[in-house]
Amino acid sequence: MARIVMKFGGTSMAGTERIRRVAGIVKRQQEAGHEVAVVVSAMAGETDRLVNFCREANALYDRAEYDVVVAAGEQVTSGLLALHLQALGCKARSWLGWQLPVHTDDAHAAARIEDITSDALLASMAAGEIAVIPGFQGLDPEGRVTTLGRGGSDTSAVAVAAAVQADRCDIYTDVDGVYTTDPRIVAKARKLKYVTYEEMLELASVGSKVLQTRSVSLAMKEGVRVQVLSSFIDESAPPADSIPGTMIVSDEELEGTEMERQLITGIAADKNEAKVTLTRVADRPGAVAAIFGPLAEANINVDMIIQNIAKDKGETDVTFTCPQADLARTQALLEERKDTIGYYRMIADSKVAKVSVVGVGMRSHAGVAATMFKALADRGINIQAISTSEIKVSVLIDSDEVELAVRVLHTAYGLDAA
Ligand code: ASP
Ligand code: MG
Repeated sequence: MARIVMKFGGTSMAGTERIRRVAGIVKRQQEAGHEVAVVVSAMAGETDRLVNFCREANALYDRAEYDVVVAAGEQVTSGLLALHLQALGCKARSWLGWQLPVHTDDAHAAARIEDITSDALLASMAAGEIAVIPGFQGLDPEGRVTTLGRGGSDTSAVAVAAAVQADRCDIYTDVDGVYTTDPRIVAKARKLKYVTYEEMLELASVGSKVLQTRSVSLAMKEGVRVQVLSSFIDESAPPADSIPGTMIVSDEELEGTEMERQLITGIAADKNEAKVTLTRVADRPGAVAAIFGPLAEANINVDMIIQNIAKDKGETDVTFTCPQADLARTQALLEERKDTIGYYRMIADSKVAKVSVVGVGMRSHAGVAATMFKALADRGINIQAISTSEIKVSVLIDSDEVELAVRVLHTAYGLDAA
């Protein structure tokens, strides 16, 4: 017997027929002999609808009241799922965020979970009752309802799994697992059986949006084993216990499997970057700080940074990337400070994309970056910037070439499915 937390997203909860199907999946999981808790999202589109009502009420809405409104979407689906489970003859009840409670801080609309009281939950699960918990909801220290930020029910599920020390947290989604790269770009992409937390974080942060990033950090911190699997399943689908999806686990657990470790686990592409170059920046202490200090204060997330060797004595070119959405603000901030920073020209380019190869295997292997550069060079793809971490190498290229680059790298690292 195991203790399992199952999470279903908005698409799976959209309407009576779909919730009934979810109830069937949950019932089968319990019948396999497990203790089960379920975390649910609001029906697809519902949170957007509720957010909109708040905006219509007052453009500068009070976030505490916003939370009261948007938390309602999950209240509806958790009650409905409990009803559907009961209709199938299961014992089930809902536990709202304030009832458990899910203790959070008071950052309304973006609250962080501090602790989940799990005694009542554990007792009910042990008595064979299926616990249905609305994702996204919490309770602040003053007793007011909070929500966790958009996409937060993934984080709710992982936090519940940590609180009840679940053997597994199964996240049912629109995709059937985590792939070596986007299958829409590379037909030969393979579904991964295992990914480590760190790899998943790198893949998530460079543009593969399977889970809310925060849920992955939490799973890593708490050691929660997470499975990503498809919610589009029927009675004949393999049981979740046989791991039909992708398991996100620690390095150590992966070490213990028979899986032959690949050098590279996955390749991600991110078209939402922009490149900024400042030419002829004074080559003196403080010049670079004068560029990036104001950007940091404005909460602009700078990613790749290159400072070229001064050609002419005393001057250098500085290039960096930032999110495309922040490009206009970045340009405005640097324009304002042109004299203090002391540069000649600012050149911005948003027709760039970042391609990253990720894998814990590269910690113990040399030559990963060289393989990447050679594979891209062979196809005439020019690299504009490079950055690396312990388990990732990223390059910035022309956005027209991103699909070709991903395909070429997928082949170069031997990831193509047979
Ligand atoms: N319903 C919330 C949202 O749409 C939370 C979630 O579904 O994860 O953001
Ligand atoms: Mg989601």
